[in-house]
Amino acid sequence: MENKQSTILIVEDIEINVLVLQELLQNDYNIVCASSGEEAMLKAHHIPIDLVLLDIALPDFDGYEVCRRLKADDLTNDIPVLFLTASYDEQSIEKAFDVGGVDYITKPYMVKELKARIKTHITLSASMKKLDFLANVDSMTGIYNRRKFFYLAEERFEKTKENLYSVMIDIDKFKAINDKYGHQVGDEVIKNVANIISSLIPKNTIFGRLGGEEFALVINMHDEKELFNLIEKIRDDISKAQIEVDGAIVSVTISAGISAYEEKYQTIDQFLSDADSALYEAKGKGRNKTTFRDRVEP
Ligand code: GH3
Ligand code: MG
Ligand code: MG
Ligand code: MG
Repeated sequence: MENKQSTILIVEDIEINVLVLQELLQNDYNIVCASSGEEAMLKAHHIPIDLVLLDIALPDFDGYEVCRRLKADDLTNDIPVLFLTASYDEQSIEKAFDVGGVDYITKPYMVKELKARIKTHITLSASMKKLDFLANVDSMTGIYNRRKFFYLAEERFEKTKENLYSVMIDIDKFKAINDKYGHQVGDEVIKNVANIISSLIPKNTIFGRLGGEEFALVINMHDEKELFNLIEKIRDDISKAQIEVDGAIVSVTISAGISAYEEKYQTIDQFLSDADSALYEAKGKGRNKTTFRDRVEP
């Protein structure tokens, strides 16, 4: 029994069909209904949906278009879409898969088959999400791991170079924290630092842990001053934080290096490497500092 942990969106314009499906599925799933393409899109955006049962003939735009739109949107593109329709010609079936459908069932359907396919796709989709999480998220801090960070950073670098900045952050004298308090406390400090940074950065920032006590950000900002102030706020907040671990109060500082996008950067690696040079400059200047690459300190 699913224990109603999953939600199915039924997109169907004929009321009797909706009622029958509801009757069949409501014991195992939460059911949300939409009788038009527009309503389906609205609900998929506002309610967490685990699977869409999609009719093709709808009053406004057709099921193919609904599926296309769901797949084109980052928010909804991982929801499995199962077409449930009276059209059984080969062309319709082919088109349903072309637009991103995961399965196709023709009406009249066999109840047990429908239920089995729904269950299979919900289970598969949940496994995919779990795998995706394991592959992309740093388990200690919950932020992107190195691999995912570079993947997203490169994508951003290719797409929007305007007002783009890369930032490298490293905890100062972290070895001393480990030596004094032990590795476990060190881990808690890393988590706390990641949390403080997460709480201060704009939503569209790409933020990852590159390894150890090193973090990186790729961020679009209106101007240099705004960016510098943000990183300084992060640095300042971390330096003032009293991190409590196992009864001990630990304080740390970070150093940060910033690089602003210029045409000379051909690759994301070059871009980040200059932020890294700026970071080492900050370390050289005594740590607990933010340094801009190729800039005189403001
Ligand atoms: P600096 O100010 O120059 O950055 O000095 P530092 O001591 O922070 O630099 P260094 O790179 O020499 O030391 C980093 C230390 O971080 C060494 C390593 O033992 C520790 N470390 C790396 N990964 C982890 C981790 O996941 N957890 C903990 N607790 N420590 C880690
Ligand atoms: Mg219909
Ligand atoms: Mg360090
Ligand atoms: Mg380091």
